[in-house]
Amino acid sequence: MSFLDKYEMVCGVETHVEMATKTKIFCGCSTEFGGEQNTHVCPVCLGLPGVLPVLNKEVVNLAIKAGLALNCDIAEFSKFDRKNYFYPDLTKNYQTSQYDLPICKNGWLDVMVNGTMKRIGITRAHMEEDAGKLVHSGDTITTSNSSGVDYNRTGVPLLEIVSEPDMRSIDDVLAYLEELVQIMDYAGISDCKLEQGSVRFDINVSLRLKGTETFGTRTETKNLNSFSSVRRCLEYETERQADALDEGLEIIQETRTWDEGRGMTLSLRSKEEAHDYRYFPEPDLMPLVIDRDWVERIRATMPELPTAKRERLQALGLSAYDAGVITASKDMAFFFDQAMATCDDAKLLANWVMGDLSALLKTNGRTFADSPVSPAQLASLVMLIKKGDISGKIAKSVIEEIYSTGKDPETIVKEKGLAQISDAGELEKIIDGILAANEKSVADYKAGKEAALGFFVGQVMKATKGQANPGMVNKLLKEKLAQ
Ligand SMILES: [Zn+2]
Repeated sequence: MSFLDKYEMVCGVETHVEMATKTKIFCGCSTEFGGEQNTHVCPVCLGLPGVLPVLNKEVVNLAIKAGLALNCDIAEFSKFDRKNYFYPDLTKNYQTSQYDLPICKNGWLDVMVNGTMKRIGITRAHMEEDAGKLVHSGDTITTSNSSGVDYNRTGVPLLEIVSEPDMRSIDDVLAYLEELVQIMDYAGISDCKLEQGSVRFDINVSLRLKGTETFGTRTETKNLNSFSSVRRCLEYETERQADALDEGLEIIQETRTWDEGRGMTLSLRSKEEAHDYRYFPEPDLMPLVIDRDWVERIRATMPELPTAKRERLQALGLSAYDAGVITASKDMAFFFDQAMATCDDAKLLANWVMGDLSALLKTNGRTFADSPVSPAQLASLVMLIKKGDISGKIAKSVIEEIYSTGKDPETIVKEKGLAQISDAGELEKIIDGILAANEKSVADYKAGKEAALGFFVGQVMKATKGQANPGMVNKLLKEKLAQ
């Protein structure tokens, strides 16, 4: 019996998304990832005395866009606050964030969990600055004995998206996070490079006895940056809490850290409450007033989001599964749409996008964004198959040729003489020769041994190097053998 037969998990997630602006939220420093340590810095983001922040308008544009994508209300009046704390990686000792008047509130996301649509509430999304990065000497934060600070990331704009505690299973959480990241990617809010820390998750989780309503005491595990870590962390943390509850122990509300190497969560500090931060309005920044025209101008620039794209692809004839696979990657979906412009068979095209081309790119360490086979080239290849000019088997060698030479499929087919033989007269001549040379098999077939037909088809394919139109070969063979 699993502990999940006895307890139900309750989970909410705070997602930190680094926004895709060129410069930081309150100064003109570059937001580019990496770079030599402490080179993307200035007096403002280093928090030197006497400096004044200036809000980057592009950050507000992206926050509004994200809010619209997450079905939020965009506040007409919002403001920044100081969140006071000792931050070794944020020298001002406060973080400029938003407290009681965030820019986005009351949104939701519909996510598909094991075939059922589930709505997850979004409490709020607010803008804030990122902190720098502590570089620890040891393998992990808990075993390190010295640390340095890189301030390049200090002041990079963040959107913190807080969900309602609406998730009840690990599948719910992963479906929500995958959908959220996809939307942030499609809407251009963030580059969503999880491996570079552009998106980080704080997981709040508690357990309660099944059938009860009251929430249990929760823990918060900070700074997870991959879906697999979230899964493992939740598996570990829920089991740890279940064991403690079974033993009659109290769960302590605290902040924990995920130790990837050991596959466990560890206590970091007791959980702070909002009053511990002594929030107060940021006196150096004006309150933010967003008129409705501004919101509408941004709404008009909204790209097609994943849900709408999946629905459109299904209307073209793709299965829900195929539509899901193609939209899971923004680059693949973009490639597919471009190819569809000159192709009239969505299903066949989807098979080639998800199958042979994906495999070819993967083998060569490329992506759809830098595919040597262009969308137009793949579309022509698919049309050649559809028209019967080449067989699917020949097409497999043609796509490799396009990949390595960049030539168009028509050119390759012509140069290499790969066109399918659909000329009945030509095929009949070949078939007559084969039947004449295999009298015994002809006799077997006529005596009722139908498997002999496969042998003849094979012989014709061999004689034509796979270029004979298989449908015609079958038809002609049957006609000849019936004579
Ligand atoms: Zn700066």
